[in-house]
Amino acid sequence: MDRMPSLFVSHGAPTYALQPGEAGAHLARLGQVLPRPRAVLVMSPHWITRGIALTAAPAPQTIHDFGGFPPALYRLQYPAPGDPQLARAAADLLASAGHGASLDPRRGLDHGAWVPLMHLFPSADVPVIQLSMPADLDPASAWQLGDALAPLAGDGVLIVGSGSLTHNLYEIREGHEQVERYAVDFVDWMREAALALDRERLVNALERAPHARRAHPTPDHYLPLPFAAGAAAGDAPVEMLPGGILHGVLSMESYLFGSTGVPAVTTSPAR
Ligand code: ZN
Repeated sequence: MDRMPSLFVSHGAPTYALQPGEAGAHLARLGQVLPRPRAVLVMSPHWITRGIALTAAPAPQTIHDFGGFPPALYRLQYPAPGDPQLARAAADLLASAGHGASLDPRRGLDHGAWVPLMHLFPSADVPVIQLSMPADLDPASAWQLGDALAPLAGDGVLIVGSGSLTHNLYEIREGHEQVERYAVDFVDWMREAALALDRERLVNALERAPHARRAHPTPDHYLPLPFAAGAAAGDAPVEMLPGGILHGVLSMESYLFGSTGVPAVTTSPAR
């Protein structure tokens, strides 16, 4: 089996589940051209734990971990099966890299996991396990976790870091679509770093990228990016999945690290 790419996905607001827009269309297209993975392993900042945990339920529930949204959102289900055996294999890989990880047989999938997967694999027939975000994670450690789990990509597992390329919730104004200049500047810098799979820049972006503190007042929605990049092969081509900037400040841009096997859709040359 060919090595699977890894994916950083911006999961936007929960309403993204009902309003796929440009980003959702790109995820749906990706789901059609990717070699079918045997499973997905996803990290989301909506499950933060002390230490590392992995979901190990055979049928993880869909968690509606948000409030004040339209009732239709709460009726959505993403009934993908779990994969307890894969959770054990992932915990073993993390242990051999020096990271203890526990299995949680009850935890389901939060919206950071299931909302983008709903667009990527709408049939919910690819098994999914979720990796928690340890509370003390930093970008360098996120990269290391991705690197530790990378052997799974060689075994047909799609490793996904689900966050948001920008994430300043204080500045989101529904219906305000005048894009803030700082968000564009930050996204431009990040895009260059991501397309180059530049470890140095991706690990230090929160200090070095323009307006990083404004784009990410807290690091949690940034960390899935170095995680996904760390899971990629060093010479992987990188594809940008456009999504625009919603509500003036919320980037929906995503990156695929590695080949889809369909050369025509890859936007950056292999290096
Ligand atoms: Zn989120």
